Amino acid sequence: MSGSKNGKVIQKKIKELLDNQKRAKAQLYKVRNNKEYDTITKSIDAADAECTRLEKEIEGIITDLRTLDEEVEGLNPLIADLVGELDHKKQELSMIKENNALEEQKLLKQREGLVAQMKKSDYSLYTRVRSAKKGLGVARIRRNACSGCQTIIPPQRQLEIRRNNRMFTCEYCGRIIVSAEVAKDAGDLED
Ligand SMILES: [Zn+2]
Repeated sequence: MSGSKNGKVIQKKIKELLDNQKRAKAQLYKVRNNKEYDTITKSIDAADAECTRLEKEIEGIITDLRTLDEEVEGLNPLIADLVGELDHKKQELSMIKENNALEEQKLLKQREGLVAQMKKSDYSLYTRVRSAKKGLGVARIRRNACSGCQTIIPPQRQLEIRRNNRMFTCEYCGRIIVSAEVAKDAGDLED
């Protein structure tokens, strides 16, 4: 921490001042006149004052460090709380992942069953359109148009689609088009 670094610098400075003072006091014995004596005692006094000031500074730094320690200690429970919350969220997430994996397995099984019931030619049409349309191979009639590309579907064609006798594709985007009833049966509840 920069506080303790400052503390070391100041302690070094104090030691220097004390060394200087020792030398100055030794010089006092060798003075030849009052003027020299005054000069040396003045510098000794100044060094004393500087030592006192630096010692106060060190005290201030120690107080600051203590305050910081207390602050860190105060934050510890909060950190523990947050870590606990994070653990909890992680557990929730892994449960969600697990459930999703189960759901996905279920849906894949269901899909397998449905594929088995389809005509091979229908299924290959579906897979072709689906990969060309990035996973959205089937559209429905919505407001007299293809829900995939919004192209209007002629009324006669809409009637044919509603009979659900065979597959129709959109003449514009190529998606397989189903009637609203079929879409609803498949779980598409929008309208
Ligand atoms: Zn379309």
